[in-house]
Amino acid sequence: MTFSVLILGGTNEGRLLAKQLASDARYQTLLSYAGRTASLHTPDTPFRVGGFGGAEGLALFLREHTFDAVVDTTHPFAARISANAVAATERTGTPLIRLTRPSWHALPGDYWTEVATMEAAADALGPRARRVFLTVGRQEIAAFLRAPQHDYLVRAVDPFDTGLPRARVLAARGPFTLEAERKLLRDERIELLVSKNSGTELTYAKLLAARELGIPVAMVQRPHVPAARESASLADVLAWLHTLHGPSLGGSPAQEPPAST
Ligand code: NAP
Repeated sequence: MTFSVLILGGTNEGRLLAKQLASDARYQTLLSYAGRTASLHTPDTPFRVGGFGGAEGLALFLREHTFDAVVDTTHPFAARISANAVAATERTGTPLIRLTRPSWHALPGDYWTEVATMEAAADALGPRARRVFLTVGRQEIAAFLRAPQHDYLVRAVDPFDTGLPRARVLAARGPFTLEAERKLLRDERIELLVSKNSGTELTYAKLLAARELGIPVAMVQRPHVPAARESASLADVLAWLHTLHGPSLGGSPAQEPPAST
């Protein structure tokens, strides 16, 4: 019997985990996407697209498809689905692990203002009109309506209407190289950068370029998510799954290992 894993995705890590488990006959996976982007990079492994209908819907889905474990690899700012995963797995008794990327930390040469919310990031840009590079995603743009005086360059996966009076959208999907980020910041004469503290290497180059060019950054801190078993690496998630599955192929899952956090 195979061990069935629901992977809550929408990130590179989710895709990598599904790929890795696909090469292990003991597992079968389903990679779940919210369906936010118009241009989904279709994975080679089984996947589904769309919400579950809250924690209750997710619990129903887990019961219907009898998943043995859930791995939450969603983005650190996707707080709702992570909270739903905690509630749904508690309800169904399904083991859950969350892959949590370490946060970024300012290094010498960085000029970061750390803010708790997008609204605080908009306020931190100041009253004077500046050239601002927004790398916060489409869903967060409304917060910048309170600071319409700035010239915004908005980077997002798909083009969209920002509703901001002085904004241009740059449709692009990471990863981005340091060379490209440096050129973009220079060519666009960017004075301020706004970023989520997402902690992924794929989008870190903009912060390196900002450091080099002395550009200040408004860094938005992660939202609160309910506590869950956490792991900082894919290797640890795999080790946890292997322990959960038990050493014998086709055997019944071993008892859940103790929480690591
Ligand atoms: P969110 O606010 O936490 O979730 C909103 C709703 O979207 C959830 O309640 C759920 O709907 C649905 N949903 C979210 N992730 C899902 C998934 N993997 N599979 C199925 N349904 C999902 O999430 P978000 O911030 O909109 O992010 C959506 C997706 O984009 C996530 O998969 C995330 O990993 C990815 N992403 C987010 C960001 C970001 O900055 N927020 C950046 C890069 C990638 P129901 O309640 O109906 O189940």
